Amino acid sequence: MTQTQPATRHVPEGLPTHLQHFIDGEPRDSVGGATFDVLDPVSNRTYATAAAGRAEDVDAAVAAARRAFTEGPWPTMAPRARARVLNRIADLVEAQDARLAELETFDTGLPITQALGQAQRAAENFRFFADLIVGQTDDAYKVPGRQLNYVNRKPVGVAGLITPWNTPFMLESWKLAPAIAAGCTVVLKPAEFTPLSASLWAQIFTEAGLPRGVFNLVNGIGEEAGAALVAHPGTRLISFTGETTTGREIFRAAAPHLKGLSMELGGKSPVVIFDDADLDAALDSSVFGVFSLNGERCTAGSRILVQRSVYDEFVERYAERARNVVVGDPHDPRTEVGALVHPEHHERVLRYLEIGKTEGRLVAGGRRPEHLPEGNYVAPTVFADVPPTARIFQEEIFGPVAALTPFDDEAEAVALANDVQYGLAGYVWTRDLTRGHRVAQAIEAGMVWLNSHNVRDLRTPFGGVKASGLGHEGGHRSIDFYTEEQAVHVTL
Ligand code: NAD
Repeated sequence: MTQTQPATRHVPEGLPTHLQHFIDGEPRDSVGGATFDVLDPVSNRTYATAAAGRAEDVDAAVAAARRAFTEGPWPTMAPRARARVLNRIADLVEAQDARLAELETFDTGLPITQALGQAQRAAENFRFFADLIVGQTDDAYKVPGRQLNYVNRKPVGVAGLITPWNTPFMLESWKLAPAIAAGCTVVLKPAEFTPLSASLWAQIFTEAGLPRGVFNLVNGIGEEAGAALVAHPGTRLISFTGETTTGREIFRAAAPHLKGLSMELGGKSPVVIFDDADLDAALDSSVFGVFSLNGERCTAGSRILVQRSVYDEFVERYAERARNVVVGDPHDPRTEVGALVHPEHHERVLRYLEIGKTEGRLVAGGRRPEHLPEGNYVAPTVFADVPPTARIFQEEIFGPVAALTPFDDEAEAVALANDVQYGLAGYVWTRDLTRGHRVAQAIEAGMVWLNSHNVRDLRTPFGGVKASGLGHEGGHRSIDFYTEEQAVHVTL
């Protein structure tokens, strides 16, 4: 493992020491003044407190969003006018991408170069949905001489947006951009581990000219603020990204209200590598796929299935690459794996390393790096010969940990790929394109990359199957989620 060592802990200038809600255009503390502590993952010291939202705060935020929806002007503005605001948001995000990345890295432990990429992608999300609503067309059906039937698309109302701690700012943008593009008003509940970058939205939106009350933010603990948002009769929709177990809880809580739900949940995605593949490209991509973003990536290819004839060579080269990943200070531009988000998550990943040692053959990592005695660091870890019954094969670890397993033929590869509860992403590497398409289509996953790095076209559907999610976002599907399509029938 290559090393970088923080000489001194980097603390961004002007770091806030208290994070408030943003309700009806104003920063606010919680009714009753409750707060929670926010740590940075390099020192695990509390650097700020955040307002801990309760049901009363969620009530106030939903009421503000409701007023902005019913009194307007946002939901009824022309798409072009809304798009101008979205483009200004994108400009403002882009103009402060370095600052955003610095704060995100400080709060999450993500490597700074990768946090910068995520900030730029957040801007791109706003631009994309601005373009999409301007180009939006809706269906019309004519029965000559008798009837015209057309679709009247309308924003649904107040959307509750609940987001996780991995790449928080970018994932918030992935919900905020289509929701407000569609004309909804929103209440965002960001993850409690990483509320810092979300605190920047208020100023960005205000400066871009988003009307008061369209965007509201309530910080807080999931079981309290998040649960209150889900149970609130005023939120017509919940878009949730997070763990599968939380998704199930939200599904249950939303059921009595028959709310619209979009669920982006966990994953344990397979990378299937046949012996005729471009092994260099497969190696580059699969190393990046599980060790970038600290392995805290929902689409991480964390189960690497390799055809037996090239398996030993691949394991050796993979382990060597993992040993050379640069682990260290997240603010150092040379760093490839930074600190995991929180001590609780760090402990959980370390526990999986111990489990893995009893289930597979450790060929790289397997511990905290020696040169980093403090902070939530984990050496990039590779287990070989992992059987499909192993917990490290079945369970989402959400850290820099890869499980390698051999297979003999295509049928076994597909069976292994599908032998988990999850179905978010899959990756296939082969030069036989007929087989490539066949295997890609046989994998039970919402998204498959064939001989391709994990890069997304924003027009494509994004979402999982099985325990990885419900519904798809991405492109027009996101707009469909945040709008109702009313049919109007007219006699000619
Ligand atoms: P989490 O489920 O613990 O928390 C996600 C959000 O839900 C947080 O804001 C949390 O406060 C809130 N929450 C928790 N309990 C709640 C409840 N009872 N009611 C309402 N809200 C509640 O997830 P996490 O640990 O923050 O994120 C990591 C998980 O997210 C991983 O499983 C990862 O795979 C998944 N993820 C999925 C995608 C995807 O697109 N499929 C993308 C990123 C992350």
